[in-house]
Amino acid sequence: MSVLKNKLSRCIMCGCSSDQTLVYSTNQTGSPDLDLRPPQMERSMQQFRVQECPFCSYTNLSIEMKPPKGVTLDWLRSESYQSCDGIDFINSKERKYYRYYLICKKQRRLPKLFQALRGTIWMCDDDNNSETAALLRLKAASLARKLYFRTINPTYRVIECDLLRRAGKYDTVKNYGRIFALKNRKLLNQIIEFEKRKAAEGNSCCYTIAEALEKDAI
Ligand SMILES: [Zn+2]
Repeated sequence: MSVLKNKLSRCIMCGCSSDQTLVYSTNQTGSPDLDLRPPQMERSMQQFRVQECPFCSYTNLSIEMKPPKGVTLDWLRSESYQSCDGIDFINSKERKYYRYYLICKKQRRLPKLFQALRGTIWMCDDDNNSETAALLRLKAASLARKLYFRTINPTYRVIECDLLRRAGKYDTVKNYGRIFALKNRKLLNQIIEFEKRKAAEGNSCCYTIAEALEKDAI
């Protein structure tokens, strides 16, 4: 059960007030997907995790939050921000998340940028906007790779593998699996093997971590 409430919020950029939905509480049951998308109810709350001012299109976790350096009203009016880089989104929920990704780009903080892009992909998944989701998954895969080399956290490599498979890059996943070995990380290796198997089948479907780790999953 999730508790949502509307709050009149004043946009820090244009000063206009609008009703914004806040998630007061929620829960989740079940396994996340292989790209760490949370299970329900949290899943359906993701769309409210980012706010957008209906007057100037400023987006952030809260429109009352200070923007990163370089975000001005003029920048918000720019063609690339307004048109979401010309990417084919089908509703305001998807556009809102992508605009938040563009805002995060100004901060140059890779983990935040990655989260924002993955959030946009999940919005597209919700709407079966699969072509755009695949395009963004390729972008996100290259961010995951950068994050791995920066942090040496193998989780990013495993997520990269899922992003590539779901974007239809089956050959890359098959080769990637062969050259990539995670020492002493049995569960992550098991997921990599699962991804390789699905890639070999030409399967770009969504799976949960629990499904990948089932005893006879491979
Ligand atoms: Zn505004």
